[in-house]
Amino acid sequence: MPVSETSERVAKESPSSTQSTAGFTVPSTKEIIITIDGPAGTGKSTVARMLAQRLGLDFLDTGAMYRAAAAIMIDRGYTEDEIGELVSAVIGADLHFDWSQDPPTILAWDTPIDHRIRSDDVTQRVSFVATIPELRSHMVRKQRVIFAQHPRLVTEGRDQGSIAFPDAPVKFYLDADPKVRAERRIDQLGLNGDVSVDEMCERILERDRIDSSRSDGPLVCPDDAIVIDTSELSIDGVIDEMERVVRDRLDDL
Ligand code: C5P
Repeated sequence: MPVSETSERVAKESPSSTQSTAGFTVPSTKEIIITIDGPAGTGKSTVARMLAQRLGLDFLDTGAMYRAAAAIMIDRGYTEDEIGELVSAVIGADLHFDWSQDPPTILAWDTPIDHRIRSDDVTQRVSFVATIPELRSHMVRKQRVIFAQHPRLVTEGRDQGSIAFPDAPVKFYLDADPKVRAERRIDQLGLNGDVSVDEMCERILERDRIDSSRSDGPLVCPDDAIVIDTSELSIDGVIDEMERVVRDRLDDL
């Protein structure tokens, strides 16, 4: 396998959590992976990041990786008929994160592209890109390399508990009423007054439809996931509940 497919190059230098042993504070080295999946607008990224902070774990936003691939497709002008070229370009870009930033930022060809990947054109394109099987297997391989280098990790996406880390000891699936998700998305993107809730709702449901119906790594709720409906809950309420579950299950955290 080429190095570019396996390298998550900015390795973290020290484990992120500590435990007290006989009066000394020593880094905890126990491997932990917590997966959070669910559709857009459920608050996944925010709660994943805050849960990671509370527990002293690293945080991986796998949506950023697919968004980076969509940005490459648009910016390099690949058409839907040029899948092979696109996949080669994404592999060549050696997507990796800068872990010195909080949250970690993504780079392609060693250039930060975080500012680019949240653009509307990228959001419109990303679900298509995420249907490409060769690209998905490349991303899943990369996610596993990242876990090998950041073995205390909260990872969020669509297939983290089902495909990337099926043996994760704690899996969450977040869901919420589509209208609530649309309102949150509008707030998050600062689009109040520019896009109606109904229009945003349609866009979100279309993205859900594509994400859930693709043959490879579709958005599914893993059988062993804890489902949380965030429609009526505050961010803090969701994180409190998740932290309680994690501490309960992983008593040696
Ligand atoms: O989470 P976010 O909205 O940034 O994800 C963008 C898109 O990336 C999703 O709509 C989905 O198509 C794709 N994705 C995926 N698998 C993941 C994470 C994201 O297919 N693990």
